[in-house]
Amino acid sequence: MKRFRTLRFRFALWTATLLLIVLILFGAFVYFSLQQGLVSAMDDSLRFSASQAIAAVNIENGQINFSDSLPESSLVADLQGRGFTIRILAPDGKILQSSGPYHSLLVDPASVQKAGMGVPGFSTVTISSVKIRVYTAPILDNQQFLGVIQIMQSLAPLVETLDRLLVALLVSIPVLLIISAFSGYYLAARALFPIDQITQTAQRISAEDLSARLNPHKTDDEVGRLAATFDNMLARLENAFRRERQFTADASHELRTPMAATQAILGVTLEKDRKPQEYRQALRDISEETDRLQGLVENLLFLARGDQRNPAQFERVDFSHLLLDTAESLRPLSEAKGLRFDVSVPEEITLFGNTDSLIRLFINLLDNAIKFTSHGEIRLLAWKEERFVRIKVSDTGSGIPDQDLPHIFDRFYRVDTSRSARGSGLGLSIAQAIVHQHAGELTVTSRVGQGTEFIVCLPIAATIQAS
Ligand code: ADP
Repeated sequence: MKRFRTLRFRFALWTATLLLIVLILFGAFVYFSLQQGLVSAMDDSLRFSASQAIAAVNIENGQINFSDSLPESSLVADLQGRGFTIRILAPDGKILQSSGPYHSLLVDPASVQKAGMGVPGFSTVTISSVKIRVYTAPILDNQQFLGVIQIMQSLAPLVETLDRLLVALLVSIPVLLIISAFSGYYLAARALFPIDQITQTAQRISAEDLSARLNPHKTDDEVGRLAATFDNMLARLENAFRRERQFTADASHELRTPMAATQAILGVTLEKDRKPQEYRQALRDISEETDRLQGLVENLLFLARGDQRNPAQFERVDFSHLLLDTAESLRPLSEAKGLRFDVSVPEEITLFGNTDSLIRLFINLLDNAIKFTSHGEIRLLAWKEERFVRIKVSDTGSGIPDQDLPHIFDRFYRVDTSRSARGSGLGLSIAQAIVHQHAGELTVTSRVGQGTEFIVCLPIAATIQAS
C-alpha cells in the first residue's frame, strides 16, 4: 500500500492518465476523419459515375430509349468491374434496367420521390449486415422527369479499413499506456533518487551527530541544488551546535574559577581563629570574586538575550551626549595609568537605538583600550557621514597579533590569558552583538606593539527607523 503513496507511483499514474486522454482524443480524431474522408471519396465516385451514366442514357422524343440498352455499354462494364451496381427506374420506382450485385435491392420510394423533385441524394442500406451506399439521381430531359438512375456500392471495404484501424488503436493504446506508465515510474524513480538519499541522511542525523553529508555530485539541477542547500544547512547547524557546546563549556569554566577562589578563601579563613583584619581581607577578596561572578553572569545574560532584543526597545538617542558622558566616566581610569585621553565628538548626532546597549558598547571598547595600553594615548573620534556615523576608538597599546584578529570577537576568546586576567573574553562579542542589533558594523585593525583601532559604523536615525 505504501508503494501507491509514493511520488513515483503517482507520477506514473499521471503520465498514463494524461497519455490515455491524449490517445483517446487522437484515436477518435483519426478514426472519424478517416471515416468521413473515405465516405466522401466514395460519394464523389458514385456521383461521378452517375453523371457519366446519365450522359450515356439514350433519350429519344422525350423517352428513354432502351434499345441501345445501358447494361451492354462499355461504361456499365467498367462500373461493374469496379463493383458498382447501376439501375434505371421508371418515375414510379419500377426497375426498368439493372446490372450489378445489388440489382434486385428493394427500391426506397422516398429517394425516388426526392429524385422526382429534381434533388439527388445519398442513402445507406443494410442487407444481411452488409452496408450499401446508394446514390439516387433524376434523369431529366428539358426539365421533364423521365426516370431515376441509381448507383450503389458496398461499404464493406471501407468498414474493413476502419475496423482495422480500430483494432490497431485498441491494441496500441494499452501497450503505449503500459510503456508510458513504466517509463514514468522509472524516470520519476531516477529523478527522485537523490531525494531518497536526502531522506535517509536526514533520518541518520541527530543533534549529537551532525557530521552526515549528502556530498551531491556537482549537478546544477533542482535536486542538486536542494542537496547542496541541505549540506550547507547541516554545516551551519553543526557549526552552531559546536559553538553552543563550546560556549556552555567555557561559561561553566569561567563561572567555576571565581567560585573555586571564593571556596578556597572561605576554607583557608575558617581553618582557625583569625584576627579581625584577616577576616576583613578575606571578605574583601570574596567581594572581589563575587563582583567578577556578577559581571560574568550579567555578560552571559546579555549575550543569551541578545538575539531576542527587538527594535521596539529602541528610542531616539542623543548620541553625541552619550559618547561624551561614557568617555568622561572612563577618563579617571586612563589618567590613573598616565595615558592621554583625547575625545573629539561633533554635536547633535542623533541615533535610533538602545541607550544602555550603546553605553555598554563604548565602555567595552574604551575599557579594552585602557586595559591593553601602558603608555601613550587613547582616542575617541566620531564623525558624521551621509547616512552613518563612524566612531573610532584607538590606542597606542600592545596591539593584537594577526593570527588572533579573526577570533577576538568570538566568545571567551582572549589573546593572552595571563595578560588579560581581568577580562573574560566576552567584551568584544558583546560589542559586536550590540553593533549588529543596531544594523551597524564593527571593524578592527591592529599592529603588535603599535596599537589597535576599532571603527564602529552605525546608521543614523532615519535609516535605522525605516529598517
Ligand atoms: P576581555 O574581556 O578579555 O577584554 P574582549 O572580548 O573584550 O575580552 O577582548 C578579547 C581579546 O581581544 C582580549 O583578551 C585582548 O587580548 C584583545 N583585545 C581587545 N581589545 C584590545 C586592545 N584595545 N588592544 C589589545 N588587545 C585587545
